[in-house]
Amino acid sequence: MYEAETEIARSLVAEACALTRRVQNEVVANSDSLIKGDRSPVTLADLTVQAVIGSRLAGRFPGDAFLAEEDSGSLNASPVMAEKVGSLVRTAIPEMNDLEIAAALDRGNHPGGPEGRHWVLDPVDGTKGFLRGQQYAIALALVDGGRVVVGALGCPNLPAPGERGNGSGWIFHAARGSGTWASPVAGGEPAPAKVDAIADSSRAIVCESVEAAHAAHSIQAGIARRLGVTAEPYRIDSQCKYAVLARGEASVYLRLPRDSAYREKVWDHAAGAIVIEEAGGRVSDLDREALDFSKGRRLATGRGIVATNGILHQRVLDACREELNAQP
Ligand code: AMP
Ligand code: MG
Repeated sequence: MYEAETEIARSLVAEACALTRRVQNEVVANSDSLIKGDRSPVTLADLTVQAVIGSRLAGRFPGDAFLAEEDSGSLNASPVMAEKVGSLVRTAIPEMNDLEIAAALDRGNHPGGPEGRHWVLDPVDGTKGFLRGQQYAIALALVDGGRVVVGALGCPNLPAPGERGNGSGWIFHAARGSGTWASPVAGGEPAPAKVDAIADSSRAIVCESVEAAHAAHSIQAGIARRLGVTAEPYRIDSQCKYAVLARGEASVYLRLPRDSAYREKVWDHAAGAIVIEEAGGRVSDLDREALDFSKGRRLATGRGIVATNGILHQRVLDACREELNAQP
């Protein structure tokens, strides 16, 4: 099932890895002259990827809707940005004009929901990591009838299995019922990705956000203590957390909200969730419910994210509840 969709998702993400790499390399090369807090490089990468993927999907699957993070607002606000995005998009699709770029971006305004098919894109997930010259991801998923059925996760800087820090990049793809597959960005046969088989929680490695604003690190440390975890948390930006879990380099991914009113955005989890599930793991919210991708642009019905190798899921959820109950 969804064979054509999976192959196209994988190839679109591969193309986006090459585009974002060019932008990130410039950021790294110019990091001395880059004004602190200047987000224009990530905006450039975001808009370019969303325009290219939005346009290619419209050509290949004209009946499918598109739900993505960005829109043409930041193009209209900055002629300089519009010019740069135009040039970069045209390296991929030479005939695309500025109006078509704006239209491709704004196709991403779909509200989501339970009906029909829509593609979900985070063009550059982990923008803070992108600007630091570290990890980020391009995350594309297909939601059909409110369920994620295909996911492709491009991790342009992910190192070889078992290594940490920057490497030459991996792409993960999954379709419901067909497993998760990993292949190097540089090319090569995909190999199956499998979560680890750790059953003793004290041996688990827990991954979490680098950014303390995105998750409650101190509560997560308390949960790790309850699990008897001895290893330091593996901090890595973006949905690369799902990727390292899917290939067995961590057993748990915790994302406890800093603010209990925060609801996660669907594009931050759709591709990652199917990559984990098809690699043999489990994903839920803090209240044990499966993630519900049918509620719009956010995971409106649940708080937080807990992803595990499956074996540890119940144990980790129990530790989360105990730690939350112990909070003042
Ligand atoms: P990460 O790289 O895992 O730290 O997460 C990056 C994602 O965090 C971005 O794509 C944002 O959509 C998301 N984000 C932004 N603010 C918050 C927040 N307050 N809590 C949780 N996630 C957030
Ligand atoms: Mg994101």
